[in-house]
Amino acid sequence: MNKKLFVLSGSSGVGKGTVLKGFLEKNPNFMLSISCTTRKPRTGEVDGVNYFFLTKEEFQNCIENNKFLEWAEFAGNFYGTKKKYIKQCLEEGKDIILEIDTQGALQVKKQMPEAVLIFICPPSYETLENRLRGRRTEDEETIKKRLEQVKTELERAEKFDYRIVNDNLEDAISELSRVISGEMQNA
Ligand code: 5GP
Repeated sequence: MNKKLFVLSGSSGVGKGTVLKGFLEKNPNFMLSISCTTRKPRTGEVDGVNYFFLTKEEFQNCIENNKFLEWAEFAGNFYGTKKKYIKQCLEEGKDIILEIDTQGALQVKKQMPEAVLIFICPPSYETLENRLRGRRTEDEETIKKRLEQVKTELERAEKFDYRIVNDNLEDAISELSRVISGEMQNA
């Protein structure tokens, strides 16, 4: 493989999506991997653009047939990256980023040790809680479940190659660009 695979993770509400969006706007050669999920689409989300939305049965089928490079259950829903999809992107010579949870990221690293794992950290737990509530896209029960995940995720982040604190958006985007271009030069 001559292309590098980058994996970005971070706790819910840490702003990793915004950091990534800023990075992708400045680096249009990079593409974001589209994951499969059993979660219901949020308003404005489109099948095949934001996610491939699958039923639980369809997802289970893919697990049984070993179709996933990695998959995880996150806050009551399943999420996974199809092997075939990643293989195809890499063969087409695309620079690809996966935005997945920490469990999935560590599974990718096991199977593809050359993958570069980057974790976006919150400045503090309180900031993260406020951001998650301020987003108003999830109900209270979902928010609680997601906050429970935070501590576990911070522990898993210790195994990542890089950690970037999202204190200031522009700084975090610059740092992400610096990390990725450094790794690309070593490729
Ligand atoms: P959301 O429901 O907010 O879109 O995503 C919830 C979590 O699932 C996020 O942490 C996101 O990074 C993660 N996620 C999205 N796609 C995948 C995937 O394909 N695999 C894994 N393991 N996690 C994913």
